[in-house]
Amino acid sequence: MLEVHNPADGSLVGHVHAGTEDDVNDAVRTSWEAFSLWSDTDPLDRSRILFSAARLVREDKKELSLLLTREQGKPLRESVNEIAGFARVLEYYASITGTLQGDYGYSKNYGHMMVMRQPLGVCAAIIPWNMPALIMGWKTGPVLAAGNTMVLKPSATAPLTCIALAEHLYRTGLPKQVLQLVTGSGRVVGQALARHNNIRSLSFTGAVSTGTGVAEIAAPTLKKLILELGGSDAMIVCKDADPYAAAKGAVSGRFFNCGQTCTSIKRVFVDSTVYEPFVQKVRELAETLSIGNGLSDGVDMGPVHTSGQRKDVHFLVQETVNNDQGKVLSGGYIPDTGSLKEGSFYPPTIMTGVDPDAPVMREEVFGPVLPVSAFDTVADAIDMANATRFGLGASIWTHDMRTISQATSELDAGIVWVNQHLRIPPEVPFGGVKSSGLGRENGRYALLQYLEEKTILINP
Ligand code: NDP
Repeated sequence: MLEVHNPADGSLVGHVHAGTEDDVNDAVRTSWEAFSLWSDTDPLDRSRILFSAARLVREDKKELSLLLTREQGKPLRESVNEIAGFARVLEYYASITGTLQGDYGYSKNYGHMMVMRQPLGVCAAIIPWNMPALIMGWKTGPVLAAGNTMVLKPSATAPLTCIALAEHLYRTGLPKQVLQLVTGSGRVVGQALARHNNIRSLSFTGAVSTGTGVAEIAAPTLKKLILELGGSDAMIVCKDADPYAAAKGAVSGRFFNCGQTCTSIKRVFVDSTVYEPFVQKVRELAETLSIGNGLSDGVDMGPVHTSGQRKDVHFLVQETVNNDQGKVLSGGYIPDTGSLKEGSFYPPTIMTGVDPDAPVMREEVFGPVLPVSAFDTVADAIDMANATRFGLGASIWTHDMRTISQATSELDAGIVWVNQHLRIPPEVPFGGVKSSGLGRENGRYALLQYLEEKTILINP
């Protein structure tokens, strides 16, 4: 059995089975047995089940959010939004399930040329702890809508909400074999999924090093891979930006979910003429954030998910300071007083004058640290933003059309926001370039990834 603990105080939240390779093999076998039933189900019936599950999840959102906060640590308000986000993804895919179509052409030479789109079969997913409910929705929505079956491994440290969400799907008619969760560690369950010969696709979200390891193990099996490997999103603040909106955007874009989001703002580049007032405003806003147990009223930021994760974050801050590559303006310490010492808390941390090559800018810092640097020209800012192995998201804060046009075309990222950051609607593709991964979540694009084209030529 694996224990699940609340990162705010270490209390026990629940237990899950420590899955084995045999559990994975059983799940994959029964998933194939369910495949013909599910893929033959009328798309509108699949849609009805997804809509009903989304409604049930919304009805139970209070209880589901409490569970999410207890196992993950985020403030209750964020959990409520994440549970609603899961429901919204299901609703989106339920709304397009009936529109799945192939293509048709006719030529005298070849006759009727048809392209059918068929589901792949058993699809697997390995998901992390940072946004377990939303990421589960991104994986299960398109897979189930397309008529595939799924075996999903939740994170060992935040599996309980995923189990509760799957139960909501079963209660509205989804056969249990169509979506199976195998809990356990990445090393056992995750690797068994990666090397399984009878899984058609594997969608993974997590660290670059884990994702490349998964890809290596999966390569001989030739399963389709979708990898979402995080980012080091840049925010570029131009001199004409609305200073208050930009500062507010930086604070919510970095400290939301305690900075543990793949598209959190991880580097800020500010025009040197507005640098000082911007930094002061960010500091003022960050210092008003209340940190504490996500279950308490008025808390804006919970703990870092594990103490190991907090250690990594603090190490990168210290390395940057020790190398003389940036200064801590606010935060940057491990709290050792009051109730904060019971959990893995880390205060909102602002670092200024940060060298773009510093550890806090170079690595994906998965915690509440906002490093800020100045720039002289937009071209320099774009170069600094692109000088990373990641390419998930980036934002530019300006109202100048020429700058917007330059930045949206030149930033190496899968998603570019203008005057906003960290908003991910289910209708449009989401994913990265470079080391941020392969493939896309969300939108019709994700659905098409879980379908295979079959060409049919009929000579009349
Ligand atoms: P991991 O990449 O280790 O974990 C993500 C998922 O992969 C979990 O379900 C994990 O299982 C599983 N896993 C772990 N090792 C293996 C393996 N060898 N084979 C197959 N599956 C495996 O991320 P961490 O949770 O350790 O976080 C480390 C760093 O990853 C963070 O600091 C952050 O930089 C990045 N990250 C990025 C995320 C993103 O959204 N892009 C999300 C989470 C992390 P288990 O439950 O056992 O951990």
